[in-house]
Amino acid sequence: MKIHPKLIGFDIDGVVADTMEAFIRLAAEDYGVSVLPEDITRFQVEKCLDVDLNMINEIFDRLLFEPEKSGLMPMDYAPAVLEEFSRYGPLTFITARPHRDPIAAWLKATLGHEVFKKVRLVATGEHDGKVDYVREMDLQYFVDDRAQTCRQLADAGISPIVFHQPWNAGRHELQIVDNWLSIRELCFI
Ligand SMILES: [Mg+2]
Repeated sequence: MKIHPKLIGFDIDGVVADTMEAFIRLAAEDYGVSVLPEDITRFQVEKCLDVDLNMINEIFDRLLFEPEKSGLMPMDYAPAVLEEFSRYGPLTFITARPHRDPIAAWLKATLGHEVFKKVRLVATGEHDGKVDYVREMDLQYFVDDRAQTCRQLADAGISPIVFHQPWNAGRHELQIVDNWLSIRELCFI
C-alpha cells in the first residue's frame, strides 16, 4: 500500500460531487443559460461568468439544500473507490458547506447505507477554515478543488492533492489528480 486510505480526507463539491455538471445543467434547463465548463475559470463563478447573480445564488442554494432533488451526481468512479477505501478505515469528508444534513443525506444515498456507516462528515461553513479540521481528524492528505485551500493545507504541513478543475488550472504547483482512478492509484498499485 502506498498511502493508507484512512489518511486521506476529501472535499465534496468538485471532488466527490460533480457540482459543475449540476450547475451547468440547471442553468440550461431552468434558466435557458448556456455555460461551458471551460468558462468556469474562477472558484467564485460570479467572477468569471457574465450571468445574472440571482441565478447563480438560486442554483447554489438548491445544490446546498436539495442536492438529491437537484440531481447532483457523484464524479465517475467516486462511489466505487470510496467503497473500497471504506474497507480500510473511516471515510472523512470536510466540506465548506454550511449545512450538514442535506449533504449527509446525499452521501448516504450515493454511497449506500453500509459505506455511509464509515463516514465522518464535517460541514465547516467557511472556505478558509479547513486546516484545523484536517488536523483534528488526523489526516495527512486532503483532496480539494480549491487552490487556495490546498495552499493553506500545504503551508500547515499537510499534503494537499488538487482535484483538477478548470477553476484551479494553472493556479498552483501542487500535486494534481484528474479523476478517482488516480486517487485510487495513490493508495493501491
Ligand atoms: Mg470543492
